[in-house]
Amino acid sequence: MKIAVVGTGYVGLVTGTCFADTGNDVICVDIDAKKVERMKNGEVPIYEPYLDTVFERNIRQERLSFTTDLKAAVADAEIIFLALPTPPGEDGSADLSYVLGVAEELGHIITDYKVIVDKSTVPVGTAELVRQAVAKNAKVDFDIVSNPEFLREGFAVEDFMKPDRVVIGTSSDRAAKVMEDLYKPFVRQGNPLIIMDEKSAELTKYAANAFLATKITFMNEIANFCELVGADVDMVRAGMGTDTRIGKRFLFPGIGYGGSCFPKDVQALAKSGAENGYRFEILESVLDVNNRQKLSLIRKLKEYYNDALSGKTFALWGLAFKPDTDDIREAPALYMIEELLKAGAKVKAFDPEAMENVKGIFGDKIEYCDNLYDSTKDADALLIATEWSVFRNPNFTKLAGSLKEKVIFDGRNLFETKKLKDLGFHYESIGREKVT
Ligand code: NAD
Repeated sequence: MKIAVVGTGYVGLVTGTCFADTGNDVICVDIDAKKVERMKNGEVPIYEPYLDTVFERNIRQERLSFTTDLKAAVADAEIIFLALPTPPGEDGSADLSYVLGVAEELGHIITDYKVIVDKSTVPVGTAELVRQAVAKNAKVDFDIVSNPEFLREGFAVEDFMKPDRVVIGTSSDRAAKVMEDLYKPFVRQGNPLIIMDEKSAELTKYAANAFLATKITFMNEIANFCELVGADVDMVRAGMGTDTRIGKRFLFPGIGYGGSCFPKDVQALAKSGAENGYRFEILESVLDVNNRQKLSLIRKLKEYYNDALSGKTFALWGLAFKPDTDDIREAPALYMIEELLKAGAKVKAFDPEAMENVKGIFGDKIEYCDNLYDSTKDADALLIATEWSVFRNPNFTKLAGSLKEKVIFDGRNLFETKKLKDLGFHYESIGREKVT
């Protein structure tokens, strides 16, 4: 099949590359000319495990190409995917201007039947708005499909190639058939391809993300309570997660969820509820608790130093909102850095992939280090904000030798409390005993 993908971010580029890998001809369009130039030169502009291999293979076999020219890209395409940003607007609702702007342009330029697929995460009713935006100028037939994407950054290629399920929202049998044919190779192991109406598909994505954000947040509240009453959240987690009704995943407490999806999607669903006369009280609490949780490590730090952070230097391991990505959107580490700078502290940061992106925000206000122990050298304490694997088994002797004092504030519960106590560290984590 001939496919155009509009928007080459985490979702668009992975979508385009993976569809090319099942034999389709894919052209990816982006308005960012520099990014398109880099991709034309064979460079993957984001960090995503395994993407480079699949990307190179499909460029070499001429199934994957890039352009800034929307009209040329869609001319031969049977299917047009919109993988455009839907950032939060000022009031928290999803900003649909990218999606609707391109939809309107498509109306001017399509010259034969197209299946136009919205892959961006959008509120209920957006498919109809996209239909209207295209129809304003279109002189040919087209169908709209809502096909939300469930990939996780860090596992994007794996998730796209073997999705738990594919959700297709459309009222057109013709478009449903095209989508089924396209996705068949990805669900051949028997995972479901669920066809439904557009609104249900749109809501499925928000409901899934809001549920996961709620699960994380619930566990963070249990962790906070554990600290008050002297229970150990890791034990509670093990005891709860073995119940198959609950499941083991998304029960790890920490310093709150971040990223480009959960924060904006929870907010947008709450807003969409309000616009339709429904108050999502659970989601309001999730938003509040998560905002507080992002700074829970800083509160512990302030308590330890009696609020006197000025002049102190802190090593910070992890800047990305989660491991295996360079994505820093809404990363708790950014909120922590802001608080530390406000308090007059210095920050020496290390992250395996996300430092370039953070330079774009904090510039030289913080120091960027080449490795774990450069960052801890002469620091008063170590703070951990992301659970990268490389942080899990550090050389504690080297670590102790480089820090001014053996003090660790761990927002991701990477180490055993007993081990750190035996090694003589002051160690604080989330929902577990403080050892000293
Ligand atoms: P992104 O910001 O990484 O990428 C968006 C791309 O669109 C950018 O390259 C940008 O230059 C391009 N763009 C903007 N306007 C354009 C235009 N008019 N024409 C062509 N290109 C244009 O975004 P993303 O993370 O890939 O997310 C895209 C959508 O997918 C969002 O709705 C998001 O909520 C959803 N989603 C994201 C993820 C994720 O993990 N990132 C997962 C599932 C769903």
